[in-house]
Amino acid sequence: MERILVKHADWLISMDAERRIFTDGAVAIEGDRIVAAGKTRDVARNFTATKEIDAAGKLVMPGLIDTHVHNVQQLGRGVAEGCEMKVHLLERLYGYESALMAEDAYCAALCCQLELIRAGTTCFIDPGSFFPRETAQAVGESGIRGIVARTAIDVHNTPIGELPAGMFRESGEEALRRAQETVTQLNGAHDGRVRAWFSLRVLSACSDTMIQAIKKKADENGVGLVMHASESFHEISASRALHGASDIERMARLGALGSNMVLIHMGWASPKELVLSMRHDLKISCTPSTGFRLGMGSMQFGRFPEMMELGITVALGSDAATSSNFLDIVRQMWLVSGACKAQRLDPTLMPPETVLEMATLNGAKAALWADEIGSLEPGKKADIAIFETRSPEWRPLLNPLTNLVHSARGGADTVLCNGRILMENGVVRSIDEREVLKQAQERGERIAGRAGLLDRIRPKWPIH
Ligand SMILES: [Zn+2]
Repeated sequence: MERILVKHADWLISMDAERRIFTDGAVAIEGDRIVAAGKTRDVARNFTATKEIDAAGKLVMPGLIDTHVHNVQQLGRGVAEGCEMKVHLLERLYGYESALMAEDAYCAALCCQLELIRAGTTCFIDPGSFFPRETAQAVGESGIRGIVARTAIDVHNTPIGELPAGMFRESGEEALRRAQETVTQLNGAHDGRVRAWFSLRVLSACSDTMIQAIKKKADENGVGLVMHASESFHEISASRALHGASDIERMARLGALGSNMVLIHMGWASPKELVLSMRHDLKISCTPSTGFRLGMGSMQFGRFPEMMELGITVALGSDAATSSNFLDIVRQMWLVSGACKAQRLDPTLMPPETVLEMATLNGAKAALWADEIGSLEPGKKADIAIFETRSPEWRPLLNPLTNLVHSARGGADTVLCNGRILMENGVVRSIDEREVLKQAQERGERIAGRAGLLDRIRPKWPIH
């Protein structure tokens, strides 16, 4: 069994119950688990390592947890820029997804996980696609940890228009059957690094019957349920017009709320929905860069500081290459911190300690995985992100928390997941990076071509 010692970290942020920070810190790993974390002199004393990682000049922390990642949208970067919501979703996003083939989806997931690993992320929650098997297969190869789900929708005429032909048009029965198959076949795959959940994905494309059926299935299978909710003003207005209630109020009316649910975005949650979130212990995935990129107003009007004060679990999510447009929780930490301060003219809101909890412990709770990930403590899985601090934006380094959230650019140096080294000193070990990027370029161009989008997304300026 491999025994890895990460030692001499300038700073080790444990995220344990006391939130201890160690200087000259170390983590000892046996197989896939942490057996000790603390001062190097204490941890190294009785530990014989088969592999040592010198973390001098670096910051060591739990792997970041990204609670909103659309793996299969990775090759759609650039296809949906500057469009209003209807065009963004119906023409660009769904158009791209309809043109995907299974091999594209696999390449997209690998490339997506490559971006996550480079960012120091070791666990993601995918909100559901038509290709959960390909996403799970990529997890097997990349070495990361992730939750996959299959999209289940049964309303094809949504408030913004008709969904495209093809896979988006399956019947409710078919969707339910495939969602169940995904959980049966994939939950616990790849050494337990893959977990499979249920997904409602877009509530405006789900009937009341579908919502209740999927919630029941999540409970029966003992797994989570993930969905987008209260995403934009536009969306809640449509839900109110159609159902007489906004998203979470509608779910409450259907008796379909529970602590195994992750609600993505939630920037337009009503006061009533805040109370429902608290009462039902709903987990929330706040997605700052999507709010900014799509102009949804979620960071201008969202009540995320209130949610935190109410004790609701709020975690961070990056979303997708098509809509946010990057996958990096360090950058999301800066955005949520800055957005909340600016919104309230209050620099004391969202301090680095709170934001770091969102990126680690709260992410673990949202993933229903807090017993095994989210902190560096004996008994937990060895999911670790290491950041180089010997660079101008990090110096002087007097407080590692403020520098990481307010100054750092992101981008990890070394990443371990489940005790395996996925990236070391900036070199990704688990994936052939050059080959994946080459394929991403070729496939990305072909998909955009098949979806008829190439001419619409070129730069407006002349290319010579
Ligand atoms: Zn999303």
